[in-house]
Formats: sequence, C-alpha cells, structure tokens
Amino acid sequence: MKQYDIDTLCVQAGYQPKTGESRIPPIVQSTTFFYGDSKVMADLFDLKGEGFFYSRLANPTVDVLEKKVAALEGGVCGIGCASGMSAILLTAMTVCEAGDNIVTASEIYGGSFNLFSTTLKKFGVEARFFDADAPADRIEALIDEKTKFVFAETVANPAIVVLDFDKLSALCKKHGVLFVVDNTLATPVLCRPLCFGADIVVHSTSKYMDGHAAALGGMIVDGGKFCFENNPRYPAFNTPDESYHGLVYAKTPAPFATKCRAQMMRDTGAIMSPENAFLTILGSDTLALRMERHCRNAEKIAAFLASHPKIEWVHYAALPADKYHARAQKYLPKGTGGMMSFGIRGNAADCARFMEHLKIATQETHVADVRSCVLHPASTTHRQLSDEQLVQAGIAPNLVRLSVGIENADDLIADLAQALEAV
Ligand SMILES: *Cc1c(COP(=O)(O)O)cnc(C)c1O
Repeated sequence: MKQYDIDTLCVQAGYQPKTGESRIPPIVQSTTFFYGDSKVMADLFDLKGEGFFYSRLANPTVDVLEKKVAALEGGVCGIGCASGMSAILLTAMTVCEAGDNIVTASEIYGGSFNLFSTTLKKFGVEARFFDADAPADRIEALIDEKTKFVFAETVANPAIVVLDFDKLSALCKKHGVLFVVDNTLATPVLCRPLCFGADIVVHSTSKYMDGHAAALGGMIVDGGKFCFENNPRYPAFNTPDESYHGLVYAKTPAPFATKCRAQMMRDTGAIMSPENAFLTILGSDTLALRMERHCRNAEKIAAFLASHPKIEWVHYAALPADKYHARAQKYLPKGTGGMMSFGIRGNAADCARFMEHLKIATQETHVADVRSCVLHPASTTHRQLSDEQLVQAGIAPNLVRLSVGIENADDLIADLAQALEAV
C-alpha cells in the first residue's frame, strides 16, 4: 500500500478482509491457536511459515496494527509492544550486551532518559549523552566499536527540539551504526524518519497514534535496509543463535525485527494486548485528520501566546521566530504537532494560578491526545529539583508545557487569555 498518501494509509492500511469476514479487524482474545497438522506447526516454530501460535510472540489483532504502522512509516515490519517504554527497551535488548554503549541525545522523554541512564547501566550498557545542538564532531567522538545505536526523538518531549536528521544520519552511515528515532510526537503523518536516514523507528502509540488516551502501547518499525551481514559491530547477528536452532539473524529478510521478536519478545512477553491494539487501530484511522487540527490549533495558540505581554517566551518550531523553524520546514513541512512550551512572566506560584484558572485544558501528565492539557514540570514531574538543577535540566521554573488538543482554537485561546488575567 506504499503508493497511497498517508491520509489513505491511516484509514486503509493493515487490514483487508476476505469475503464474509468482519469489515474492521476483530479482537482475537486468545492466548493460543489451533493446528490440526503438526508439520505446519513445526514450520512456524522454525520461522518457515506464517501464522500464530502463542500471543506472547504475536497475535492477529496486534499484527494488523503492526502492518498498519509499518506501512505508515514506510518500513518492512512492525512489532507491537505493551508500551512505548517496552518498545525502547526491546530495541536496546535486541542489539546491546553488557560492555556495549549507546549514544543518545539528552533531550529525550524522561522515561527513556531513566531507562538509558539508570536501568540499562545495571545491565552493563552505558549511555553516552550529547546535546542535540552539539556539532557533529563532538557527537562522533562518543562513537566507538562498542556503540550499538544512536538515538534521538524527531520532536523532543518536552524540550521541543527538532532533530537534525542529516547530521546524525551521516555519522551513523559513516560508522555503520544503527540510527534509532523515536517518532512519537511527530507521527508518520508529519515526518517519516526512515526517509531521512533512520534505520529503526519507535513509538509510544499511547500518544497521538491512539489519540484518545485510551490504550497504552508501543511500536518498533524496522526499515529493513540496515546491513547487519558481516558488519563487525554486530557479531550477535552474524553468529548462530543457539536458543533458536542456530539461526543467523543477518541472513533473514528483516534481521532486526526477526531477532527482536524471535528472541526478545519470546523472552520478555512485552507484547501489546489485543484489546489495546484494537483501540489503537480505531484511533489511528483518524490520525491524519487529527494531526492536521492539532497543528493548526497549536500554530494559532503559539502566535497568540508569543504576542501576549504576560508571556516571556514560546518554544514551538512552527513559529517563524523559533530557533528550530528552518529545520522544521525541512523535516516537518506539514506542521510540528500540538506540543509547545512557554514561560510565564512570574514565578512558580503564578504558573500554578494560571493553570488553576484554565477551564478547558486540564492538568495531567499525559500529552498528545484529543484533549488539551497542561503541566508545570517545576511543581510536578521535576518538583524535587532546586531552581539551579531545573535550569541545568533545561526546565525554567516558569515553564509551562501545553499539549494542544483538537477543540476549537478560539475557545482555547479565550480560555488561555482569561487564565492569564489571573497571573
Ligand atoms: C510517552 C513517551 C514514551 C513512553 O511511552 P509509554 O507508552 O508511556 O510507555 C516514549 N517516548 C516518547 C517521546 C513519549 O512521549
């Protein structure tokens, strides 16, 4: 279905019923699957045939979403995971062993930062962080023969930094290292990282992909083009996997996805549930429509805030004055999504007053769904930090994060205006 535009793929990709089957994908709520022929089943275990045998590894409903997101991203294969975090964990487990390292932007989702800096470290995998705006040679200096992937987000949560794809992709190509991009906040509607040099795309589908704050989930999409065969950086892809009948992953059609599912999904069971896959399939039918509205609403709101006397600054890459505007035009020409951050002229108490007076946007830790929401990191997610530590973490004490929903833009602006009067 690659020939169709993304609007069409959002509605059509992933599922084509045969005559008499349900028009929308059914929820296959079954752990296991019937086979009358033991040879057919044996072939499945040898990865020779297509089919399902146990929902810890693959499930027909999850499979529909996997095919859909793979089509949206232009990849060859998707792997549905229980959450965005498990998608990132499985990605790391697929390529890393103790003694290896990963090179990652420091402007990433807080959960990913913790996973890389604390949890993976306990398993002997070192995270080497770079500032997203650092020059290429400084980032290159972090890459050595034990580096298994380079990681960054298309639009970083919550820093709203737009990824310089060309800079990182050139480094990864030069060193034959995997380039992994978290595309959660951009979605394939606004940007397709595989077209800009990424090898693997990961998602928290809990955000825009589902879009309704109804289902937790994650997705790994394999671009299928990375060359593992005889690449000395990846011995585990070039030696037989004794836990899988001596399979050599580099010789399979999609080595990354095959190893990820056959080995890591088998060993962790961190798969998406059929019901969450179903909800995410429904939600993603309207992804293209929703992203368009998120962008147009956020553009109007960013312009309103930027000209408001009580607002000190606004970070939103679609604003012509934004530091990342030119980069956004290059990689996300249709818009940069609904996430922005801004600084209120005042202190933390002023921010709290502002948020308490909002009537539409509610205070929550979730972002990127149909409902507008706000968060004041300094008094919630980052409240244990001192003012000085907040500045180091790039979080000004007066920073408010706003996730713009798909409500009416004028209603949202009027609500923000009346709440700013309380400051
Ligand atoms: C939310 C989020 C995650 C984690 O996803 P969960 O589904 O909450 O586990 C990862 N990356 C980004 C950019 C996110 O916004």
